[in-house]
Amino acid sequence: MTRPTRIRLSIAALRHNLSRVRALAPRSRIWAVVKADAYGHGLAAAVRGFVEADGLALVEFDFALRLRELGWRKPVLLLEGAFEAADVGLARTHGFALTVHEARQIDWLAALPPGPPIEVHLKMNTGMNRLGFPPDCCIAAAARLAGLPAVGSVTWMTHFAQADAAPGVADALDRFQAVLPPGPVACSLANSAAIVDYPQTHVDWVRPGIMLYGATPFADRPAASLALRPAMALESRLIAEQRLAAGDTVGYGGAFVAKAPMRVGVVACGYADGYPRHAPTGTPVAVAGVRTRTLGRVSMDMLCVDLDPVPQAGVGDCVQLWGDQIPIDEVAAHAGTIGYELMCAVAPRVARFIED
Ligand SMILES: *Cc1c(COP(=O)(O)O)cnc(C)c1O
Repeated sequence: MTRPTRIRLSIAALRHNLSRVRALAPRSRIWAVVKADAYGHGLAAAVRGFVEADGLALVEFDFALRLRELGWRKPVLLLEGAFEAADVGLARTHGFALTVHEARQIDWLAALPPGPPIEVHLKMNTGMNRLGFPPDCCIAAAARLAGLPAVGSVTWMTHFAQADAAPGVADALDRFQAVLPPGPVACSLANSAAIVDYPQTHVDWVRPGIMLYGATPFADRPAASLALRPAMALESRLIAEQRLAAGDTVGYGGAFVAKAPMRVGVVACGYADGYPRHAPTGTPVAVAGVRTRTLGRVSMDMLCVDLDPVPQAGVGDCVQLWGDQIPIDEVAAHAGTIGYELMCAVAPRVARFIED
């Protein structure tokens, strides 16, 4: 028999969430961000769910090629740009747009033989201090790019370090606007948090990621309050049941101790499936549609749940670890992380089912 651990991916939810972005940023074009295999959802689901997007953005060249194999003909943007000189030729062959965040990448463009031009996103560092030219170097970088036959249009871009909480984007936005050349220039600024909270950042292109998958970019606002729908459900089944007496313990280290007689269910899902090992006793889980809690330590292939709130449940019943019944952000908060990390960590051994 097949192990019952699986993820279900809802194309309808992906489309719904994209339509939420359209409603929030009606005048902007949308780069749907599909890095990390579409935040763990898989590119096949993403290409179907985001047909209405204006482009797909990611960081992996091999996955960008896969997008073309999957039939995606619209724009593709490499968010970290070229990693080596050969990537620039590859981008041109397949019509990928490239982020340019440092001088070496301009050298590679300058060295290209004649051919069709490459669209470029010129990245400014406005305070994240990861990638991008310092603001006062951007005019010179833009001038260099403008002189290269290998370069087509240039879009000015930055990525906010603090769009999801105070102090917000004002400082970064000031730095960005202070160096923009006069006249019309295309720009791309907003991630999910900025799309929700800062309409002034929407401009020509927005770059939503997490919200497209139905999770929240904020620590203090649930996805449902943003009218987003979870696209991924991680599910399994009960494969055993135990009856404990008061004082009995559950799992490695005896981390949970029963205070009274109780019924425990064993779920075929563990950290080797991508469920977070740091989720403590009390992390929410749904058994046969009823909300209950995990008990004790998560092990590699299994975790245990309290069946007392679900007296009718038994071996074979369906368990949802996260999805429409249990927000992924709640599980993440219990485990001391964010929904982003849980989505991306679902293991290859977990079967995927795409639903319309
Ligand atoms: C990942 C990423 C995004 C999307 O961020 P979310 O918080 O998931 O919306 C946008 N822009 C860049 C450059 C990124 O790397």
